[in-house]
Amino acid sequence: MTNFFDDVFADIADGDEDLRDLLQHLSNILPDAAVVIYSDRGTVIGDPLPQFSTEMLDGCREQADCTTVKSLCQLPTGEWLNGIRVDEHQALFFIVAEGQKTTLSEVPQLATLYHNSIKLALLQKIHEEAVIENEQLGRRIEVVSSKHTQLLDDNHRQFLLIREKEKEYAKKLESEIARQTKVLRKTNARLEEASRLKSEFLANMSHELRTPLNAIIGFIGLLSETELTVEQAEFADTIKKASSSLLVLINDILDLAKIEAGKLELYVDSFNLDGLAKNAEEMFRSQALEKNNTLKYRIDPSLPSHLIGDENRLRQILINLVGNALKFTSKGEVAIEVDKIDDTEEDVRLRFSVKDTGIGIPKERQKAIFDKFTQADGSTTRKYGGTGLGLAITNQLVSLMGGKIGIESIEGKGSTFSFIICLKKSEAQKETLPVDSGVESESTGVSERTEAEDGRTEKKAVETGLKILVVEDNLVNQRLVSIMLKKAGCSSDVAGDGVKALEKLKANQYDFVLMDVQMPNMDGHAATRKIREIESSEEKESFRSLVGRSKPLYIVGLTAHARKEDELQCYEAGMDHYLTKPIVKEKLMQVIEDMRRQKA
Ligand code: ADP
Repeated sequence: MTNFFDDVFADIADGDEDLRDLLQHLSNILPDAAVVIYSDRGTVIGDPLPQFSTEMLDGCREQADCTTVKSLCQLPTGEWLNGIRVDEHQALFFIVAEGQKTTLSEVPQLATLYHNSIKLALLQKIHEEAVIENEQLGRRIEVVSSKHTQLLDDNHRQFLLIREKEKEYAKKLESEIARQTKVLRKTNARLEEASRLKSEFLANMSHELRTPLNAIIGFIGLLSETELTVEQAEFADTIKKASSSLLVLINDILDLAKIEAGKLELYVDSFNLDGLAKNAEEMFRSQALEKNNTLKYRIDPSLPSHLIGDENRLRQILINLVGNALKFTSKGEVAIEVDKIDDTEEDVRLRFSVKDTGIGIPKERQKAIFDKFTQADGSTTRKYGGTGLGLAITNQLVSLMGGKIGIESIEGKGSTFSFIICLKKSEAQKETLPVDSGVESESTGVSERTEAEDGRTEKKAVETGLKILVVEDNLVNQRLVSIMLKKAGCSSDVAGDGVKALEKLKANQYDFVLMDVQMPNMDGHAATRKIREIESSEEKESFRSLVGRSKPLYIVGLTAHARKEDELQCYEAGMDHYLTKPIVKEKLMQVIEDMRRQKA
């Protein structure tokens, strides 16, 4: 309530203030006149006139209008009271000019004077207010502009501060990045060195492990061919199987290490699809029989016979999958199937599947079995053996080929492992290769191979008259190859490295050379290159083995590796052929037979 009345009185006070102002202006304009303003609110502003009553003023209010100044009533002194309403001020203006005894209608100039004076006073007041307002505005502008300047200054200061901090921060960041880069570079260098050492170690280990193992496998093969008691034959067979699985395992570990180091490359070439599947089937035929399993393969007849891909790695994948399928199936069926999905002019997409009717894999374990060292359940190792590496390698190899391996399995019913890859069609449909003439995969179970050849190897070979130089640094292997050659009806000499081999070739006449690749002093590649160099120079006259030949000396490389890159390296060095270790006797016999025919 108080607020309401305060506002009302403030308004009144303000209104009166306005009128007082106006009155002041008017008095200045009309110094000789007595002026009184009577506001609509009933207040009287100015010196009250003599014998002047409120009733009188109220009476006059009735007559006054806002367009003309009129004489309203005569005062007892005889002067006339003149007035005009000024609506915008809600007030009545009374003016009495001293000694004005006549009405304004009689002196119209006076009415005009009063009228104009009031207008002028009003204008002067408006002008004054405008000036004040202008001043206030000026002051406000000043304040705002000074505030603005202050704000700008503040902003600038802040900006400088932030910039300074940013610079500082950037410097710190730079030095931190430089520090961390240095640390990372060092770590990286250390890791690269470690990785290099690891690869080197693996390569050495691979050689160190395989050399004695190859000797074991080779000699046990020779031992099996001698007269043995049933028990001895059984022992020999066990050693043969154990060393073969050890070789597979070593190859698996080395493969995985290579894959993980990103060093495994695919070597693509034209291959016979039917040969690949048939080869896998043949390899496992006897193993399938042992557990009363049927093993078969089917190839979609609409698929081209030759494709371009890494045959050895594809074989390795199939060997892993078929090996597993047979391991976990008995009295059942294992099938290798290759189907065409679709093709274009150049490529074909095909699905490889290996199906079995074995124990199956529980759903929750199906993903994990592709991790290395993981088996479907803890009892697998006890019951079936294995390391859990095969599928990890298979998975990675399929990925390298651009595919993804999948599994469908029902516990107790069986499993299907399959993958889809895209291979290029082979332009020149090469002649179908004999199935077993392809390069042996490293994971090839040697035992299956030699078992299939048992019948033939028992036969004693006739004298061939061939003389062979065996270049091999390992004494055990020297002996092994020499015995194998002797059994095949050949005579041989050995040289421990490339340098000694050249000496032998100079002094003696040989029909061909079996050349190990990895040797001290001068390795097999260097020795082969040297021999080829000599053959195309005058120097050959002083080499008994090189002079007077219709063809260059036949050199067969012996390598522990069975990869395409090893094969290529052998050919690049100038070798004519190459055999992998452990030497598959059948293959050695084939070389001897070819040489014997050539000589005849
Ligand atoms: P390994 O066979 O050496 O144990 P793998 O990586 O080849 O290693 O296989 C991993 C595991 O996956 C096996 O131990 C087995 O539990 C399961 N497995 C693989 N193939 C089959 C299959 N065809 N049937 C049933 N279980 C399988």
